[in-house]
Amino acid sequence: PDVSVYDFLFGDLDDARLDSVALIDGMSGATTTYRQLVGQIGLFAGALAARGVGVGTRIGVLCPNIPAFATVFHGILRAGATATTINSLYTAEEIANQLTDAGAEWLVTVSPLLPGALAAAAQVGIDADHLIVLDGAEGHPSLPALLGEGRTAPEISFDPATHLAVLPYSSGTTGRPKGVMLTHRNLVANVTQCRSTISLGDDDRVLAVLPFFHIYGMTVLLNFALRQRAALVTMPKFDLVEFLRVVADHRTSWVFIAPPIAVALAKHPLVDQYDLSAIKVIFSGAAPLDGALASAVAARLGCTVCQGYGMTETSPVTHAIPYDRDDIDRSSVGLLLAGTEARLLDAETGADVDVPAEGSSEPGELLIRGPQVMNGYLNRPDATTEMLDADGWLHTGDVATVTHDGIFRIVDRLKELIKYKGYQVAPAVLEAVLLEHPSIADAAVIGALDEDGQEVPKAFVVVQQGAELDADAVIAHVAGRVAPHEKVRQVEFIDAIPKSSSGKILRKDLRAR
Ligand code: ATP
Ligand code: MG
Repeated sequence: PDVSVYDFLFGDLDDARLDSVALIDGMSGATTTYRQLVGQIGLFAGALAARGVGVGTRIGVLCPNIPAFATVFHGILRAGATATTINSLYTAEEIANQLTDAGAEWLVTVSPLLPGALAAAAQVGIDADHLIVLDGAEGHPSLPALLGEGRTAPEISFDPATHLAVLPYSSGTTGRPKGVMLTHRNLVANVTQCRSTISLGDDDRVLAVLPFFHIYGMTVLLNFALRQRAALVTMPKFDLVEFLRVVADHRTSWVFIAPPIAVALAKHPLVDQYDLSAIKVIFSGAAPLDGALASAVAARLGCTVCQGYGMTETSPVTHAIPYDRDDIDRSSVGLLLAGTEARLLDAETGADVDVPAEGSSEPGELLIRGPQVMNGYLNRPDATTEMLDADGWLHTGDVATVTHDGIFRIVDRLKELIKYKGYQVAPAVLEAVLLEHPSIADAAVIGALDEDGQEVPKAFVVVQQGAELDADAVIAHVAGRVAPHEKVRQVEFIDAIPKSSSGKILRKDLRAR
């Protein structure tokens, strides 16, 4: 049904549910009940509406994961405005670029991020009274002050099928981040689809360490987990020790992660010093999770590890492994969510790849169609036509395979495939093989040129603390496990692999070295 995000999430909260916990601040332990959350959302929406905010207003949200994020985010949507969530690690310049591109007239932030917010606001022309500092700063509206006005949420009406709820930006892994236009219908659809596959319920405590500003945390945590009446335990940033402490102290049962956290959980010695027994499921998305790594985490923590796939353009989830399907390989991204269609197109011929009666298909570019697919990119008509065809198919730019029984595997991004002597080599495959080496803490692979101008796989390797490793050993390790054309031919040792805050390897940064 076409309803607003607010009505879908909070419209039918029954009395029994209202007094259960919606949010726990993982740092202070402070709790917010659903009753308090809904009350605050209404008050915040009312305060915004009193200032002229409504349908058509765009508001930047530059805020780490704290419980108040939920109030701000849902308050903005309830007021009929559109939230453009901003990466908390952005520089002032990047913040200003997004605010300008999104046409934001307001900015919400917290005092630790105020210097960047102020510089960006000045550049864009956002006045002090349109820069809300949640925890208070001289001359700016604060959250307690706005809620304290005691206003009621406005009566607004809009068409959920077309009205923009959010303008999140893609991660910028391959180029400049793109503003993605997502409607209330898109967000409601994806929460509904998650419910069909991800069995998270009202007795679960969910670790919210993935940033709410990125579509993965926004939909799966802020929308889906709250719709399921679970309790969200917020963490403003990832730090292994804090992460382990919060999981142990708050006994979280579901932990949504990106692969870099899985690497730490599998390999870091500290992990054994904490009681992580409350974890039922670790769910990874946003970048490839290797099967051996998934097994190592599952064995060490005694839980199930699942994987899902998605992109900002699809709100984001399109595939997931249902956690009780033990028969599905964890290196796959599982099954299509309900109401989602997929096709695979041969990258050379453009023809549909055949799905065999048995076994797995040939690789092809993954196309997605469904109610969670975006309306288009903001201010980027060319990029929109390149990605979204006239029949509503989104061309993901990712290469995948599918088995006869509908299990999808992501091979890699089309543009990242290394062309070695007419073969295509997927960096993700080699990265997984590298990570299996006990002395390798982390790794990334790109295509580099050898002395003959031929593209070859080059590995960047982070050596495990205290271990010793040379390039020949790395090359031999990989050579023993892959086809001859897939061998790593160059190795460079590095202190850390550059990754985006959504957990992706920034291969473009490695290429620029
Ligand atoms: P940009 O589009 O700005 O270059 P981005 O594509 O990294 O950045 P996101 O929308 O955050 O921005 O990420 C979507 C991409 O993440 C997918 O297209 C895919 O390449 C990758 N991805 C997501 N989940 C998985 C997964 N489980 N396995 C492999 N890749 C994944
Ligand atoms: Mg992308």
